[in-house]
Amino acid sequence: MKEVSFKIDGKTYKAPLGENLIMAAKRNGVYIPTLCYLEGHPCLGTCRVCTIRVNGRSMAACTLTLTENMQLEVNTSELQDMRKAIVELIFVEGNHFCPACEKGGDCQLQAVAYAMDMRVARFHYSFSPYRIHYEGKNIILEHNRCMHCKRCTNLFQDDQGYKIFSFINRGSKTRVMIDLDREKLLSAEKLREAKQLCPTGAILLQGGGFDRAIGTRQYDQRPIGVIPKGEK
Ligand code: SF4
Repeated sequence: MKEVSFKIDGKTYKAPLGENLIMAAKRNGVYIPTLCYLEGHPCLGTCRVCTIRVNGRSMAACTLTLTENMQLEVNTSELQDMRKAIVELIFVEGNHFCPACEKGGDCQLQAVAYAMDMRVARFHYSFSPYRIHYEGKNIILEHNRCMHCKRCTNLFQDDQGYKIFSFINRGSKTRVMIDLDREKLLSAEKLREAKQLCPTGAILLQGGGFDRAIGTRQYDQRPIGVIPKGEK
């Protein structure tokens, strides 16, 4: 595929024409944080945590593909603070008390907050009051940790190719719901996939609990945003 030149914070890089901007930056060792975008899957554009400036305009990097001579601003102090504010808003809208969360160490939201050096949110907590959904045979939905990223509703399919997560209600009452008839048929592998797909601790497994020791969890092993040389 044809390679094109582009700039990130004034430095020139090359990547394939038409590549997603998050991937084009990663290919060149520059981390752009994101919570909804998942490598190899269509862009969802829901979380806006990957906000950068493209040719002077603030845009979500995951929604754009690379063209010749793009000028990207990624790590200016203003943009870093804007992205951090978005993550803080996600924290205050839900119940993300990391030390008590079964997804701790494997949670993308927690990992991104660490990478941004978030200590405390600048906004007031809303203490969301949703009831936890235990009706599934295997899956628990902790609605108070859901950031409505759409990964589960748009990217997850069961072994027969059916989407089993969907949204119900509207506005502040919007919640993820699950097809209980299909949920009870999910294989252990599919259940793990659903839990892992969620960037927060909103999708949990019955009887799962804290199943990995501190030090062995995904982001204990490699903090998010650390791109080893040669990984593309
Ligand atoms: S349950 Fe998880 S994956 Fe699904 S929308 Fe909520 S945060 Fe995203």
